Amino acid sequence: MFSNELAISPKNFLPGSLVELVDKKGTFLGIGYVNPNSLISVRILTREKEEIDESFFKRRLTEALEYRKRFIKDTNSFRAVYSEGDLLPGLIADKYDECLSIQFLTLGMDSRQDLIIKVLDEIFSPSVIVVRNDSSARLLEGLTLEKKIVKGNLDKLPVMRDEGLMFEIDPMSGQKTGFFLDQRENRKAFAKLINGKGAGLDLFSYTGAWAIHVASKGAHVIGVDDSADAIKQAERNASLNNLSERCAFKKANAFDFVKAEASAKKTYDFVSLDPPAFVKSKARIKEAIKGYREINSLAMRVLKKGGLLATCSCSYHIDKAAFFDILRGAGRDAGRLFRVIETRSQAKDHPALLSMPETEYLKCVIMEVL
Ligand code: SAH
Repeated sequence: MFSNELAISPKNFLPGSLVELVDKKGTFLGIGYVNPNSLISVRILTREKEEIDESFFKRRLTEALEYRKRFIKDTNSFRAVYSEGDLLPGLIADKYDECLSIQFLTLGMDSRQDLIIKVLDEIFSPSVIVVRNDSSARLLEGLTLEKKIVKGNLDKLPVMRDEGLMFEIDPMSGQKTGFFLDQRENRKAFAKLINGKGAGLDLFSYTGAWAIHVASKGAHVIGVDDSADAIKQAERNASLNNLSERCAFKKANAFDFVKAEASAKKTYDFVSLDPPAFVKSKARIKEAIKGYREINSLAMRVLKKGGLLATCSCSYHIDKAAFFDILRGAGRDAGRLFRVIETRSQAKDHPALLSMPETEYLKCVIMEVL
């Protein structure tokens, strides 16, 4: 609920406290927690009249785990809680083998940290718990940024296993909670289509997950990222999977790198393109569209006929239709014609709520050059 939708000012309530919401006629709408200092003044936890206590959180988190049991197979790592998608707004927890990496993104969740950590500890019995409260989203809630280990230690980093592949994850120093689990299904879909053929690029490769999935089927890949730490981790991951001969990683600005490749008339059999969110606010959307269009048209230019492109956007301010518009523009700039093979979204452990479009943020389009 936004502040301008409320009849009583949220300033009348203690930050983080629970309120019952009713409509103008007095009909019960739900129970949520308040943040008088955020534009989103109330976030709804339940549509039922129930106690919001330890057993409530235990029930919600257990339901989230039960939902995931339907499809989480062949891996020891998954997103255990995805905020509104699991009816727990502001709470994210990723399980990396024996380690839980948690984000408290709202004041309402932040003020219940101890309780939630206790319940997550009971459900998952992890040997390590990391709290990654360094997301800038917290600033909008008036919260400070910090990260800490609240259980165990990281002397040995967790290793994610994904259908026989291994990825070492640093939940304390890595980006976000350490790894991008949302692309898990998309990387596999792309690797399957390439089926080990040829050579390609993994742009914005981070710790090499796309490159390693594709190389595991036999292809050769160059990963590009401008973070030295990410490159180091990507190289370690390649060696962990005995794929160092087929994966090379370069520290470079992805824009400059593909521009140079295009100028040198180099061509590839496939490119995966998974940039960071170029747009974090509605105000900067124009700039972001320009960036997406440019990097996409560059990637399109270096593809061979019959080559495959997996192109992604994780900005929810750019919806599916807008992303397709950008891709059409990029195709025109590059003078290439594409056939869309698959339009995909985030992995199923990042469930989207039908009633809340913002929960579906990831777009991944797999196309073939005609
Ligand atoms: N594809 C990755 C996730 C990418 S996250 C995966 O599946 O795990 C975005 C990455 O882009 C980050 O690793 C960040 O370091 C990198 N990055 C951001 N701007 C960049 C730029 N201009 N050139 C190259 N890499 C960039």
